[in-house]
Amino acid sequence: MNPDFEPEVLEFRDRLEKEAEEGGYHLNPDREMTLMLAEGLLVNRKRYGYLLCPCRMGEGVMERDLDIICPCDYRDADLDEYGQCYCALYVSREVLEGKREIKGQIPERRPEPEELERKREESRAKARAGRESMPLWRCKVCGYLAARGNPPEVCPICKAGRERFEQFSLGGDGPPVPLWRCKVCGYLAARGNPPEVCPICKAGRERFEQFPL
Ligand code: SF4
Repeated sequence: MNPDFEPEVLEFRDRLEKEAEEGGYHLNPDREMTLMLAEGLLVNRKRYGYLLCPCRMGEGVMERDLDIICPCDYRDADLDEYGQCYCALYVSREVLEGKREIKGQIPERRPEPEELERKREESRAKARAGRESMPLWRCKVCGYLAARGNPPEVCPICKAGRERFEQFSLGGDGPPVPLWRCKVCGYLAARGNPPEVCPICKAGRERFEQFPL
């Protein structure tokens, strides 16, 4: 235990690690560094009321900082491309296993303010139009669905690797896999039958209903 860090920082860092592992993510193995970043996150939470990224300047208005509240919108793309997030709090499995090296500071993926505003307007327009251009990925093992640029490194539900994901369409030309909805928490899974237990709220199979495609 490092005496330089407050107990709440040590506890918070360990919670981040536990949650990361449960979700198929990994904290940087450099414990000292993750403790400093965890401390920065807690300072920001006290200052702003939310976990603003410790490596970026926010505006102090939650609505405008949403994309850089940890974990930020850019984490997964940076993990895919560089094996680490911008702050290097999170690293990919390859980095964790020593198969890839961390390069130090990586480029900032967050767009410049003007471009960010343009993208915000674009996504508001898409939401208004009720359509989403993101690809939808389905875990072939458990049916977990995720709408994102690439499939996750590991399925957060069943821990199957990225190679077990396939693209999924909610339209007529997608694979003929039924969609199941947990009536308790709303969790959705595309699979032959509903899961025995909802992986989110632990409700039983009988609490699932088929969701229209
Ligand atoms: S760069 Fe890393 S530490 Fe910063 S918000 Fe993103 S995920 Fe969190």
